[in-house]
Amino acid sequence: MNEDELNSIKDKIKREIEAAKTINQLNQISRGYLGKKGVISRLLKELKTLTKEERVRRGKKINELKCFLQEKLEEKEGLLKKEETKQEGAKFDITVPGRKLKVGHLHPLTQVKRKVEEIFQSMGFSIAQGPEIEDEWHNFDALNIPPEHPARDVWDTLYLREQKLLLRTHTSPVQIRYMEKHQPPLRIIAPGRVFRHEATDARHEFQLSQIEGLMVEREISVANLKAVLSEFFRKFFTKDINFRLDPDFFPFTEPSFNVSVTCVICQGKGCSLCKKTGYLEIAGAGMVHPNVFKNCGLNPKEWQGWAFGFGLDRLAMMKYRIDDVRLFRSADLRFLSQF
Ligand SMILES: [Zn+2]
Repeated sequence: MNEDELNSIKDKIKREIEAAKTINQLNQISRGYLGKKGVISRLLKELKTLTKEERVRRGKKINELKCFLQEKLEEKEGLLKKEETKQEGAKFDITVPGRKLKVGHLHPLTQVKRKVEEIFQSMGFSIAQGPEIEDEWHNFDALNIPPEHPARDVWDTLYLREQKLLLRTHTSPVQIRYMEKHQPPLRIIAPGRVFRHEATDARHEFQLSQIEGLMVEREISVANLKAVLSEFFRKFFTKDINFRLDPDFFPFTEPSFNVSVTCVICQGKGCSLCKKTGYLEIAGAGMVHPNVFKNCGLNPKEWQGWAFGFGLDRLAMMKYRIDDVRLFRSADLRFLSQF
């Protein structure tokens, strides 16, 4: 074996590695030279037959060849890997729009609640909260409904067994709690859940959402109430809407009204929903009763106020023309996904 043979092996290595197209082929080449029966292993075995001096000289050459081979293999492997990544990348079209993650949305009642809050906040009202489990004082007595008062029967109250507690039947106790802690002038709304012991049908639920409103000033009248309601309806229904106040009775307001708006279904012409009247009752309202002020430690000769209570479910039904209140809490996605 001479110098020429080593050089021709070197050339062969170069050509073979250059021609290799895959990592697999590179591995085969590597085995062909460095494996047990490979070319380089054979050359190293042949060293035994040489003299010591020759062995050293040739051994050095063979080692150089081995290094050359390894270097070339590594170099080519790097190139092939780079290309592979490029091709992988080419399989993906980065211009294709991403798939949107399916996310839920807010319940229609929550959407309506937030809209109402937003409108009243824009008119300077703050949002107040109160407990869903109430005592009789805040739910009834302080609101001018003493124990023997027949008006208590109007609210089919759910009582808790202990401590004379109950599930609040309206959001009006929040008025009391707020006036106990804050000095007028006041401007609040109080959204929340209320509970009634009631059989359910298309218009009644044992659990309802209400929004209470209260404004207390030194001089304030029904005209202010009408102005605020008018602004609210215009913003909530996004159009001018007719409404009217009819005399009603609530123990905590004097005078008291029920508030009706033009029927959203027939636009006032008269239909089965509005019982041919062209109007739908939507809220109760009135001027705060002097006894209510007294019960909160405020002087009724010094302060005046009005209050209202909307059924949030009713508002949502009118806005979206829904004819069955039970749908809201049915957890039926066919219904809910429409909002
Ligand atoms: Zn109607």
